Amino acid sequence: MDRTIIRPTWAEIDLDAITHNIKAMRQRLPKQTKIVAVVKANGYGHGSIEVAKRALESGATSLAVALLEEALVLRNAGIEAPILVMGWVPPEAASIAAKQNITLTFFQKDWLDQVSKLDLSTNLQLHLKLDTGMGRIGIRSSEEMREILYALNSKPSIYLTGVYTHFATADGQNLSYFHQQKTLFEKRLTELREYWSGEVAVHIGNSASAIRLPEGMCDFVRYGIAMYGLFPSPAVKEEDEISLKQAFSLHSRLAHVKQIDAGDAVSYGLTYRAEKKEWIGTIPIGYGDGWVRKLQGFSVLVDGKRMPIVGRICMDQTMIRLDKEYPVGTKVTLLGSQNESFISIDEAASYLDTINYEIPCLLNERIPRIYK
Ligand code: PLP
Repeated sequence: MDRTIIRPTWAEIDLDAITHNIKAMRQRLPKQTKIVAVVKANGYGHGSIEVAKRALESGATSLAVALLEEALVLRNAGIEAPILVMGWVPPEAASIAAKQNITLTFFQKDWLDQVSKLDLSTNLQLHLKLDTGMGRIGIRSSEEMREILYALNSKPSIYLTGVYTHFATADGQNLSYFHQQKTLFEKRLTELREYWSGEVAVHIGNSASAIRLPEGMCDFVRYGIAMYGLFPSPAVKEEDEISLKQAFSLHSRLAHVKQIDAGDAVSYGLTYRAEKKEWIGTIPIGYGDGWVRKLQGFSVLVDGKRMPIVGRICMDQTMIRLDKEYPVGTKVTLLGSQNESFISIDEAASYLDTINYEIPCLLNERIPRIYK
């Protein structure tokens, strides 16, 4: 997105890291298993268009998003690669998908009936979603599957081109539920082949399953979090040697520096008071950017050293305690590397008691993304 950057707060997206992470996965997968780059939620906050283009140049062969709107953003940017929408799309919007050659996910017979009443100008491609234990969307029984496939047979311009499922515990310590889901999926697939003779692409795996079971991923891997250089969970990180590079970093510059006296307070509610004379820096970023209030007490990097966030984080500004005076304009790294130091997204996630996926998604469009 072209925009004027005035406030010195920005995220840097290292597209070479995306290439690196795709190549790392490509090396593990059998030749016939392709990579679908998952770029939903604006590419997990990294920028869907830029990531999608780089992913396709680096070995991914198609894209997946959650919303039809997200697919249209990619089409409007001139991206012609196959795109799968993985979420539920209102049936009346299916004609937009057909026109733009965007594949939709389906799992409801009523939905199919409503779509078949539309005046589709071109063929619509669909992937059937099976709920094998995630409990989110998808058909759950053989009867449902038989009914939906039977209905599909009589719909002339609607084609089944794929079938898939999603695992609930692929990133966990214990993989027994994962294997239970996989076994159920295989059973459903055998049943599907009894009612359906057409060729369909089969895909089951996200990053965690692909890292752990590359040989079992069928036709595609839906590669999300690890493509951005983040491990799906601490369990997967501990057990695996795959080399991943974090693509996202967040930076700002000191907007104000002052010395305060012992007993002086910082920010709303006076939750922080200086114990002695202290240098305090103010950075122009706050919870209005998605730099959430609960990060009070977390650290940022200045001059390659960790400095604590003191006082409450405001909507647009955050204060830090400095070890000495620094000039206004000094670079502050909130996530990523500075000199020899590094603050990982994992560390921020763990401080917030959440998962790494959430951190770049939280950092909103107020923060420009700069691509390297
Ligand atoms: N497949 C589906 C259906 C998803 O919902 C997601 C993301 O949540 C993915 C694949 C990608 O998962 P990950 O980011 O863990 O690789």
